[in-house]
Amino acid sequence: MYFVRVSKIVSSIFPNYVWNVASHQIALTFDDGPHPQSTPLLLELLLKCDISCTHFLLGKQVELYPDTFQLIQNSQHQIGSHSYSHLNGWKTHQRKYVEDVIKGNSSIKSHLFRPPYGKILKSQWKEIHSSYPEMKCCQFNFMPGDFDEDISIEILEKRLFSVKGGDIIVLHDRPDCFAKYVNVLEYWVKNMKDRGLEFVVLQ
Ligand SMILES: [Zn+2]
Repeated sequence: MYFVRVSKIVSSIFPNYVWNVASHQIALTFDDGPHPQSTPLLLELLLKCDISCTHFLLGKQVELYPDTFQLIQNSQHQIGSHSYSHLNGWKTHQRKYVEDVIKGNSSIKSHLFRPPYGKILKSQWKEIHSSYPEMKCCQFNFMPGDFDEDISIEILEKRLFSVKGGDIIVLHDRPDCFAKYVNVLEYWVKNMKDRGLEFVVLQ
């Protein structure tokens, strides 16, 4: 169960987190990479689309695939941390969760953090923020569901076309997800640009 569009009520409860970009912009973000099977293809596709995106990486994947990590570092994209091993903040003891985030950032080294599943407790963020005062908690407000085994490419496409200015969109840098959006992305990006929307990275 997930919400494609995050309610403004939710984002208003947590004003310290990043939920949107400016209304004439959109930010495309990719979580869970790097992955040797999808990342090189994704980077090639994004180059064709002529856009820069934000990649929220897992420390565990960075350790496993340093060469693939290097490809992203050498690209025009922004890098953020998505923790070390993708723990669910709502179900994980505070100490274990914070240690996992710190471990992830020891190799990723970014001031941007996206909690796995978007789930983090206020107390967990408070502790992370005290270790990294410059760090921003980057949420998202639009999740098309590329990870969802039950949705068709047509539904994913339809959802993508309902993106609005200001949206931060989350897709995934994983082979199963890439297969879902690979044939839609370039056409969709062109359409968004034709609408006057500018693709930006999170800052
Ligand atoms: Zn994730």
